[in-house]
Amino acid sequence: MSINERIIVCGGGPVGMVAALSLVRQGIPVTILEAFEEPPRDPRAATIHASTLEMLHSLGLADGIKERGLMAPAFQFRDRKSQEIIAVFDMKHIADETDFPFAIQYEQWKLTRDALAAVQAHDIADVRLGSSVTAFSQDYEGVTVVYEDPGGEMHKVEGKYLLACDGGRSTIRIGLGVFMSGFTWGERFLVLTSEHDFAVSDGYLNRNYVMDPTEWFAVFKVPGDADQGIWRTLFPTEGHEKDEDLLSDAGVTQRIHGLRSDMDHNDILHRNLYTVNQRVADRFRVERIFLAGDAAHLNNPLGGLGLNTGIHDCLNITKKIGDVWFRRAKEDVFERYHRQRHQLATEFLQSVTIENKKRIEEKDPEVIHANQMQLRENSEDPVKAKAWLMRSSLLDSVRKEDAIE
Ligand SMILES: Cc1cc2nc3c(=O)[nH]c(=O)nc-3n(C[C@H](O)[C@H](O)[C@H](O)COP(=O)(O)OP(=O)(O)OC[C@H]3O[C@@H](n4cnc5c(N)ncnc54)[C@H](O)[C@@H]3O)c2cc1C
Repeated sequence: MSINERIIVCGGGPVGMVAALSLVRQGIPVTILEAFEEPPRDPRAATIHASTLEMLHSLGLADGIKERGLMAPAFQFRDRKSQEIIAVFDMKHIADETDFPFAIQYEQWKLTRDALAAVQAHDIADVRLGSSVTAFSQDYEGVTVVYEDPGGEMHKVEGKYLLACDGGRSTIRIGLGVFMSGFTWGERFLVLTSEHDFAVSDGYLNRNYVMDPTEWFAVFKVPGDADQGIWRTLFPTEGHEKDEDLLSDAGVTQRIHGLRSDMDHNDILHRNLYTVNQRVADRFRVERIFLAGDAAHLNNPLGGLGLNTGIHDCLNITKKIGDVWFRRAKEDVFERYHRQRHQLATEFLQSVTIENKKRIEEKDPEVIHANQMQLRENSEDPVKAKAWLMRSSLLDSVRKEDAIE
């Protein structure tokens, strides 16, 4: 085997680790370079949709997720002021379309950990944790990547192709000079995590969106580090609010107290603040280098689509790499990766997530009323509910992908 007979994956977050698993399961050697020594436990993605569960099942990961995650067979919309339940979307309406008619709440660090363990079981996997990529180059034969190891020493690896799964601030995307078109919202999102059981106190499901013209919020239950079951609440902030105020005891109390007057900052386990982008990279492929996951597209988290679509990217590109590797296809198939995933990220992912945000924060009373009536009708009519769920679970988007040449 010549030295560059491998794929290099930059970034072993959930997308990079799942991509690596997909490659080694096809018999393709992989080197993964990941800056962290172990997956960070910050509260980000936790909802895995039906379309993604189907893919993770094909990689042998779905059974563990089902066993350890929290089933979310339905999700709820409420009105904040009246506390009225506006709509409950029940996934039973897509039971004839998928073996996974539900979402599963499972933290992304656990998915990364599971994929890492599965990757390490393959002797063609070379996992280098604590390794930060600093530079790269490519020519007509392959790619060369430079990284710094945990001891500060610099190394060089060579491969046939490079998968850039290194997140929103991707070193590879920036190094390629690929622009991310789109915008950043003025407000940031504050995530407060607590052990307070919102199912018992307020009848919330494992996934809930609460509409309000002044301060909407979302409530999710996730398994938690010790599988004890914890709750995340997500709030918008005002653009002018300072980090230190938002994250202070007083700031945190103000937000959570608005939800339940018996709660304050002492009930909060973690406080996290996120910048919210809607951006898509102009190119998903530059010759031998492919962008996937947050390196390729960023969106607001309402609907839980960022990680899911990142995994869809990596299954698409790793299948094409397999086809080229084993000479079932020529390299021009890679351009189709750009066309398929770029189009879906631009037309589907951006519009759905912007729509989700606008619906929950709408200020005009007449539009709020119309939106709520529409949600109710969509959730109660089996045909409309199915159409809604096919879209929100990304089953539609995955099926449309094949039609994009
Ligand atoms: C509050 C919140 C809630 C969310 N909820 C959901 C949800 O429910 N469902 C959903 O689908 N999405 C959700 N998302 C989005 C989701 O978290 C991201 O889309 C997801 O993390 C993308 O995964 P990734 O592997 O592409 O990038 P990342 O998770 O950012 O991983 C990138 C990896 O690359 C590594 N890296 C970076 N630079 C280098 C380098 N130079 N060298 C080596 N390694 C490097 C990093 O250490 C990291 O491990 C949410 C996001 C937020 C903020």
